Amino acid sequence: MTPTTQRSGWAEQAARALTEAGYRRGGARRAILELLDEQACALSAQEIQRALGGRRRAVSRASIYRVMEELEAIGVVQRVELGQGIVRYEAVRRGPGHHHHLVCDRCGRLEPFTDAGLERAISRLSDRVPLKVSVHEIVIHGACRVCAR
Ligand SMILES: [Zn+2]
Ligand SMILES: [Zn+2]
Repeated sequence: MTPTTQRSGWAEQAARALTEAGYRRGGARRAILELLDEQACALSAQEIQRALGGRRRAVSRASIYRVMEELEAIGVVQRVELGQGIVRYEAVRRGPGHHHHLVCDRCGRLEPFTDAGLERAISRLSDRVPLKVSVHEIVIHGACRVCAR
């Protein structure tokens, strides 16, 4: 489980976006939004289910996948593909908390990283490419320190 951070108001923004897209404000949706807002990095569906269960908010795995699909469709959640079909989910953040990922292809470890120079380079690139850029994600694959030993 990743370390938790302060809530940022992301959950409220995401809830508004859901309402605007015509989704009802269900209890499971709100619980999932609040949980994701507290995370420093991505969670698997299994971790989401376990965390909600620990808060006496039992939500089925099928409901979690359905809600994650809705949140992805409206662009407030992104999936991080770890390869071999392993997927994690996290809040899309444009300001503080925005980060990218290092993925160990041997053990599946996911490590967040930030780099100001990389963000500037992507910003310059965004001005140049024939695309109105909304979000970007960088995933760097390799072997973590433990696995590379
Ligand atoms: Zn992350
Ligand atoms: Zn590893």
